[in-house]
Amino acid sequence: MIRMVKPMRKPKVTIIGSINMDLVTITDEVAMQGETVHGKDFRTLHGGKGANQAVAASRLGADVSMIGKVGDDDFGRSMLENFEANGVDIEGIGIEKDTPSGIANIIVSNKDNRIIIIAGANGKVDRAHVDRYAEIIRESDIVLVQFEIPMETVKHAIDICSRENVPVIINPAPVTALEDAYFEAAAYITPNEHERAKLFKMRDDGLPEHHEKLITTQGAQGASYFKDGREIILPPKNVEVVDTTGAGDTFNAAFAVAIAEGKDIEAAINFANAAAGLAVGKIGAQNGMPKREDLQ
Ligand code: ATP
Repeated sequence: MIRMVKPMRKPKVTIIGSINMDLVTITDEVAMQGETVHGKDFRTLHGGKGANQAVAASRLGADVSMIGKVGDDDFGRSMLENFEANGVDIEGIGIEKDTPSGIANIIVSNKDNRIIIIAGANGKVDRAHVDRYAEIIRESDIVLVQFEIPMETVKHAIDICSRENVPVIINPAPVTALEDAYFEAAAYITPNEHERAKLFKMRDDGLPEHHEKLITTQGAQGASYFKDGREIILPPKNVEVVDTTGAGDTFNAAFAVAIAEGKDIEAAINFANAAAGLAVGKIGAQNGMPKREDLQ
């Protein structure tokens, strides 16, 4: 007898966040005030936490929509093309007139990084923009937010998820204070160790606030979660580290995809550790992000 197997629907993941062009200057010497020096190399790389997480989730096999904004400029057009090349739906991306696309000016010298971020169009991602695409949120299996767009928009997005009963993962980076009610509303919160120490106090019983929904990434140690009041660290595979840029973004995207697919928390962390482990083996944030088949 032939049994009909229903094809598994791809999980639908929506990312609400930043889209940046990373302008990376590689130099031995950093110019002092009033000085001009020659650097060694220059790269233009697609970045921004939101965009990185969207690209990573799409490569890992999810049906991904991005909600955000770019400027009406060459960087903006290049970033839209990059999303399309990576299979990310761009219906929720607005093109902001008279505002530059977000950029990160990154100077890399002898392992010392200096970064200046200009929010540009990311700073114009407002509540009305998110409302316009509420339907995309409503149809999602999971939503992922970070803190590189205005916080009042992040809060509004979390409110919509609560109202629509869509689980939301908060990746609290870069670290910024947020009222407790929003963390309360999250399905999971994914700080790194530094962000966790800044955002979550220890309770009287020695456990951090919201420990039951905290997934803490711990660099080369892997990532942890709390089970029955104990913190359990799941280690990554032994990998050769080339460049850890984008490790956190890959971890978050992979964790979201795995949860949307119905994996339990431990399996989701193992999947995310494996994906992030592959990402640190290659140069560049998006360049190193693995495809689903790389993980099998
Ligand atoms: P970043 O800001 O550099 O993207 P992050 O500080 O947000 O990173 P980390 O905790 O450094 O996040 O790393 C995220 C995940 O990436 C880890 O949980 C782990 O799975 C993987 N990872 C990071 N560094 C290493 C490493 N050296 N070896 C193996 N895996 C790593």
